[in-house]
Formats: sequence, C-alpha cells, structure tokens
Amino acid sequence: MPRIRLEGLVKRYGAVEVLHGIDLDMAEHEFTVLVGPSGCGKSTTLRMIAGLESVSDGRIWMGDREVGALDPKDRDIAMVFQDYALYPHMNVARNMSFSLRLQKRPQAEIDKRVREVAGMLGLADYLDRKPGELSGGQRQRVAMGRALCRDASTFLFDEPLSNLDAKLRGQMRSELAVMRQTVKKNMIYVTHDQIEAMTLADRIVVMHGGHIQQQGSPSELFRRPANKFVAGFLGAPPMNFLDIELREEGGTLRASGRGFSLVLPDALADRARHAAMRKATLGIRPSDLDFAPDATADRALDLRVVVSEYVGAQSVLICDCGGARVTVEIKSETPVALGETLRFGVRPEGLHLFDAETERAL
Ligand code: ADP
Ligand code: MG
Repeated sequence: MPRIRLEGLVKRYGAVEVLHGIDLDMAEHEFTVLVGPSGCGKSTTLRMIAGLESVSDGRIWMGDREVGALDPKDRDIAMVFQDYALYPHMNVARNMSFSLRLQKRPQAEIDKRVREVAGMLGLADYLDRKPGELSGGQRQRVAMGRALCRDASTFLFDEPLSNLDAKLRGQMRSELAVMRQTVKKNMIYVTHDQIEAMTLADRIVVMHGGHIQQQGSPSELFRRPANKFVAGFLGAPPMNFLDIELREEGGTLRASGRGFSLVLPDALADRARHAAMRKATLGIRPSDLDFAPDATADRALDLRVVVSEYVGAQSVLICDCGGARVTVEIKSETPVALGETLRFGVRPEGLHLFDAETERAL
C-alpha cells in the first residue's frame, strides 16, 4: 500500500492561484480528512490527486512513483461520489462486480471478491436486492463496495454525505466509522463538516484560503490548535474569544479584558513572558467553563446569562461578558435563571492565547 505525498502542490486557474503550495504526507492505511470552509481548495486538492485536474506546480507521489502526469485510470485510485451513482436495475452483487465484469475477469474470481467485500461491509444478506430496496446507509455501503471490489489502493471521497438530511448523515457517519476499522486502505475524505472530520480522521488537515493551517490527530488539533482559525473551526459550540491585555502584578501575569481579570497559570504565563506578549486574544472553549459560585475572581468569569438552550443532558448558555458574547456548556441540572450574573471557573488547561496580530497560538 503506497504512502501518498504532496509536495508544494500549486493550482492556478489562469492568473488566479487557488492552492498555494500544499505539503502533505499521508501514512499507509491512513484515513485523512481535508476539512475547511467552502472554497478553501479541498476538492481541487482531491481532484488533482485523482488526476481529474492538472497540476500547475509541485508533485504528487504514491509510494516511489510520481503520478502527477498519469491518467486517472493509471493511478490505482477509486473515487466515491456524492450521489453514489448505483445502477437501479442491477442487484447489489452486480453493482459491486460491475468493473470486474467489464474487465472480463473469471466468474469464480468475481464471486469470491464480491463475497469478501460484502462480508466486510455487512452486505452479505443483501446481494440479491436492488438499490431501491435498500436504506440510504446500505446504498452508501454498496457504493463503497463497488469501489472496494476494484481493489485500488487509495479511496477518495468528496463530501459523500453532504446532500443527506441530518439524521441520515449521523447514521452514515457511524457506518463509515465502523467500516473504516475493517477496510485497510488509504482513504482521503473531503468535508466542510468539522464533526465528520473529528469522528472519522486519523489525521485532520485543516485548510483555509488555499493553505494548510494545521494537520494532526483530532485530539492534537482540538487541544493544541496552531492558530485562531483552527481553534474556532474545530469544536462545537465554537471556542470563545476575548480581547485582553497582559500585565505583571505581584509576580503573576494578569489577562484583563472588559469585565474580568484572570491570573494566568504559571506555565502559560512563562510562555507569554517569553514571547513578550502585551495584547492578545484569549480563547476558552464552552466546555472549559464550570459553574463555580465560590471560585476566586482571579480564575473565573462573571457572566450574565442571556439565553439558555436546553439540549438534553447538556445546556448551552449564551452569556454577556462586558459586551462580548461568551458561550458556556453545562450540565442541565445546574440551576440558572435568565438575566442572572453567575460565576464560572476557568479550567487552567483550557486557556489559549493567540497573538493579536498574527493570530498564532502561543
Ligand atoms: P472547496 O472544495 O474547498 O469548497 P474548491 O477546491 O472547489 O473548494 O475551490 C477552491 C477555489 O478554486 C475556489 O475559490 C473556487 O472558486 C476556485 N475554482 C474551483 N474550480 C475552478 C475553475 N474551474 N475555474 C476557476 N476557479 C475555480
Ligand atoms: Mg468542494
């Protein structure tokens, strides 16, 4: 199974450059998710890997083979499209074996391959059904199965769930998560949905404006975002950002903004001193604030609750902090009343600092 590597990949349409040098190294069997807002260059990157778009500059490697100039059919790649494109008049077995039959492979080999892949995807009992007699999740597995029967080393998905309703989308996301544990292939998956990225990826690659912002495991990116864009893009509800100024006071470093003044934990304070930071943006995730009426003001925010959104076990509070909006995620049994000002303790490990100009994380 080749490892896939992109080296300084650039795409220009006429005079307009839309990808500005993408460097990416995907390990064998890795499930890589390219995620970012619409227009950031995800599909273009995927289509260049597939050979459906020309490369303006840079290189694409699969193992020790440079594939940038090869036809799509010579790249050992299968692409799964958004609409599945199954043949409605063929049963599951015939849909899955379509390309093998085109290649006129021996019937015994075709049957064996279809049985193997159907077993892997939990479709063994459905081989005689037509697509119209399957659920959405099963149809999606058939589309996957058809690609897997081709035995390519690498599978590319471009927003495969994006035209489904929310419930089916969640269900298929789980099916994909289960499937990816049994299918050992290189997978590159494009989505604008950060939840899909977080739940499916071994490696998340966050893109913005034709650049890679950061790549790493979901938990690395969640815990240590490299900049404000990544911090705000991953996680729901999104991270809160507050403008602050830093100043020394009695051997501690204070982060003060409108309506609050926090003492920074030592490790973070040392890093901020080292960077000679004065003005910054403070980032706190809604889940890193805890209802704590007895906390000291040095380690807490006093927030006026404007809206409480009940979502079952958790509630999301939308609060005001000196004119800025701050979101808090708490257990629903916490007693809160609208309009009240309550104290929320800030978890020390949940504090992030971003340079006010460059937006880079400290
Ligand atoms: P994403 O998949 O992340 O939404 P795309 O890769 O489709 O984004 O597009 C990246 C950028 O390239 C966008 O600004 C888009 O307008 C531009 N683009 C895509 N295809 C073309 C094209 N054929 N001609 C000109 N510009 C294009
Ligand atoms: Mg796209």
